[in-house]
Amino acid sequence: MSENNPILSGSAQSIAAYQDAIEQSSKAVVEWLKQPEMYQGKTVDQLRERIHLNFTAEGLGNQATIARAVEYFLKDSLSVHHAQCVAHLHCPSLVISQAAEVLINATNQSMDSWDQSPSATIIEMKLIEWLREQVGYPAGDAGVFTSGGTQSNLMGLMLARDAFFARQGHSIQQNGLTGDLSKIKVFCSESAHFSVQKNMALMGLGYRSVTQVKTDAFSRMDMADLKAKLAQAKANGEQVLAIVATAGTTDAGAIDPLVEITELAAAEKIWVHVDAAWGGALLLSEKYRHYLNGLESADSVTLDFHKQFFQTISCGAFLLKDARHYELMRYQAAYLNSDFDEEHGVPNLVSKSLQTTRRFDALKLWMGLEALGKKQYAEIIDNGVTLAQQVAEFVSAQPHLELVMQPQLASVLFRFRPESGDAAFVALLNQRIGDVLLASGAANVGVTEADGVTCLKLTLLNPTVCLEDVKVLLASVKDTAETLLSR
Ligand SMILES: *Cc1c(COP(=O)(O)O)cnc(C)c1O
Repeated sequence: MSENNPILSGSAQSIAAYQDAIEQSSKAVVEWLKQPEMYQGKTVDQLRERIHLNFTAEGLGNQATIARAVEYFLKDSLSVHHAQCVAHLHCPSLVISQAAEVLINATNQSMDSWDQSPSATIIEMKLIEWLREQVGYPAGDAGVFTSGGTQSNLMGLMLARDAFFARQGHSIQQNGLTGDLSKIKVFCSESAHFSVQKNMALMGLGYRSVTQVKTDAFSRMDMADLKAKLAQAKANGEQVLAIVATAGTTDAGAIDPLVEITELAAAEKIWVHVDAAWGGALLLSEKYRHYLNGLESADSVTLDFHKQFFQTISCGAFLLKDARHYELMRYQAAYLNSDFDEEHGVPNLVSKSLQTTRRFDALKLWMGLEALGKKQYAEIIDNGVTLAQQVAEFVSAQPHLELVMQPQLASVLFRFRPESGDAAFVALLNQRIGDVLLASGAANVGVTEADGVTCLKLTLLNPTVCLEDVKVLLASVKDTAETLLSR
């Protein structure tokens, strides 16, 4: 191939094409960052109408293609860095994470085998060792980077299931599920992430295998109900594979009582998986690290770095306390992780992952930690938690707003309260406030439910957002509500 070889390589043409394409793209990003709007406000129908695929026989070339992506994708993207973009656990990203992506993408290493990612494999393993240390796990490297919390939770649940059956002399890996499957249960709280249900369905055990434990007034797992439901399960002859505790529920940011749960589970010999997809950020916190006490006793842990660690999507990890449990998912492929390699100490991370081909997302965390240092990383994490407390205080003082729950991490649950109207009316009003704000492009506020009642949610991850910004947002909530009410 000659002149228009489209492949990235060391040839002069390829290098020139690479530099042009990256420069054109990054210039467009700079313009996009300067856009004042959070969102241009187009509706689903408008975007459907506007966006069309243009696949021609000859191709458009890089320049025109990038220009089209800018026009049809970039300009109508959501500005996740915008101060009024606070609906979800969806973070603005670190600048260093962007630089890491350039390196990750250009090198295109694959983490499945050492011969596809030599330095990257070692860096990922060292980061896993470091993360284990932060959690308080024994030294080792049992764990792996994942696509995120859903996959990490799947690994925890799957290994818990397989360890449970292994203790009864049955290999799920070899022989599949067996026995009266209606008796198999996992426990989690009513506020646990829906991926517990989805994963249990995927594992062939169905939603019915999930026993939801009640939560207290702060959305934390209620220990009395956990004990009662465990006793009931025993009386019914049910077999409990795992208790999934959440450190940072998606809405309230609630952290289940990890010490009590792990103590109870140890006495009952039940696997504990902690879903710390959000709350795991407190591992780096100076002020709030103690919220995670008890995490070190869990059998497995989910961490997500594309939440309050401010890394680009995707970036997560799974940690396994006892490396021996990895045997339960061992699969040897002659071409990736042969006996020969293992005997010679060559690490092939495919044996620790559900994925085969896998991105080197670990680089982002490594570079983030090196660039920011522990102190600044701690500050940007703590900022959201502290801001949520300030916002809650402000909300409580507003007669037209109702604070639904005291914040625990970096989210605030609240509701607009009109002077009159029944519960259904208030619920619909709050739903519509969220919809109108997004449609106007002014703000993205979460709409969710607390105790079955619709409310609004601010997820205050962004460390550049301050109380004044949130007051502006709350003023638009009020204006929007008044406009809706006056119709
Ligand atoms: C976000 C989240 C998940 C899902 O993680 P993904 O990275 O989106 O797959 C799981 N659990 C909790 C508590 C979460 O907040």
